[in-house]
Amino acid sequence: MRRPSSFARRFIAGEKIEEAIEAARAIQARGMGLTLDLLGESVTTLDEAYAATRQYLSVVDAIVASDIERNLSLKLTQLGLDIDKATAVDNLRKILARAEPAGFFVRLDMENSPYADVTLEIFETLWGHGHRQMGVVLQAALYRSERDLERVNALGARVRLVKGAYQEPKSVAYQDKADVDRAYERMMKTLLTHGTYPALATHDPALIERARQWAREQGIAQDRFEFQMLYGIRRDLQATLVRESYRVRIYVPFGREWFPYFMRRLGERPANVMFVIRGILGESG
Ligand SMILES: Cc1cc2nc3c(=O)[nH]c(=O)nc-3n(C[C@H](O)[C@H](O)[C@H](O)COP(=O)(O)OP(=O)(O)OC[C@H]3O[C@@H](n4cnc5c(N)ncnc54)[C@H](O)[C@@H]3O)c2cc1C
Repeated sequence: MRRPSSFARRFIAGEKIEEAIEAARAIQARGMGLTLDLLGESVTTLDEAYAATRQYLSVVDAIVASDIERNLSLKLTQLGLDIDKATAVDNLRKILARAEPAGFFVRLDMENSPYADVTLEIFETLWGHGHRQMGVVLQAALYRSERDLERVNALGARVRLVKGAYQEPKSVAYQDKADVDRAYERMMKTLLTHGTYPALATHDPALIERARQWAREQGIAQDRFEFQMLYGIRRDLQATLVRESYRVRIYVPFGREWFPYFMRRLGERPANVMFVIRGILGESG
């Protein structure tokens, strides 16, 4: 990661907030929005959860001091959800207390299926307490997500729709890619028609094309939704969408705890593993 040429650097903006802000500026200059994610998840001690919260607070301050867009993504297990729900909620409230008055939008990322219920519960509770600059993520891979979508749409809250990055058992999730894609398309259409400024987060050109087609047919204006993509993935497609006046937001991960995120990106595309192996062989040879 420390070498700018390392393969991990394709997916992660750097270890420091300064590097993330620099990446964010370049993204803004290309006409796109962004959301910053301070990497970290699954903390098991109160100290780690407080440390992550403090780091998020300083990220909020650094963004405010810069000229980049005020938008964060975070994971509840990073804030102590595995210790207990109250710890994660307290820590999230601290972050919201600093971020909301400064005009931030805060997205709760969705982790693997055992966290789906509690993540939505926390979201709904805070929404009910008037925290309206927040949004959630739903994963098309989970059978439950279409019902969850009705629940979130009823609130009028913003959803980021993803396929789902975690290996899930067949008791809770579609195993076949075609089934995930079909669920994504159904949810995408529901969101475009009934959702509140949905974020369609995918690099799948076929689904993106279907979203564009559906929006055209239904007379849904291009500023009523956005596409989202991950830092370093399908930059060509990002640029094409911007050229065609679609809104595109890039998820910019940074920080020292990059390993689990990086492994998920490798798992999504076997060709990435070959890049890493070639890199290692190149280094040792
Ligand atoms: C902005 C954003 C936020 C996300 N937040 C969450 C979240 O909170 N929870 C969650 O579970 N998941 C999240 N994800 C990940 C998501 O669930 C998928 O795992 C990921 O987006 C890959 O699926 P895909 O929709 O791009 O489709 P795929 O069918 O997997 O990929 C379509 C095409 O995209 C390209 N591509 C996809 N992945 C890679 C890769 N790793 N390296 C290189 N090229 C690739 C390839 O060209 C591929 O053919 C997020 C994704 C995005 C874009």
